[in-house]
Amino acid sequence: MSGQLQLHDEDSIVRCYLCRNDAAGPCMRCRRSVCGDCCVIVEGKAQKWAVCLRCEKNEGTALSGWASLALFFGKIVLTLIALILLLAWWAGDLG
Ligand SMILES: [Zn+2]
Ligand SMILES: [Zn+2]
Repeated sequence: MSGQLQLHDEDSIVRCYLCRNDAAGPCMRCRRSVCGDCCVIVEGKAQKWAVCLRCEKNEGTALSGWASLALFFGKIVLTLIALILLLAWWAGDLG
C-alpha cells in the first residue's frame, strides 16, 4: 500500500517528457516539460530559453536540409562554371 502512495507522489512531480527525469522547466517551443539533460539553453535578448532536444533537432535537420540542398546546387553551379571556363580556355588556346 505504501508503494501505491509513493507512486501517486511521483506522478505529481513534473517529469521530463523525453527521459522521465525531474523536469527543469518547459520547452520554449512545444511547452512540454524537459529536464536539464534533454534541453539546450538558447540565449535570447533579455532571457535564456530552454528548447527541448526534439525541437532543437527538428530545427537542426530543417536547417541542415536547406544547407545540404544549397551545397548540392552550389556544387552543380561550380562544376558548370569550371566546365565553361575550361572550354573557353581550351577554345581560346586552340583558336
Ligand atoms: Zn530528460
Ligand atoms: Zn520542445
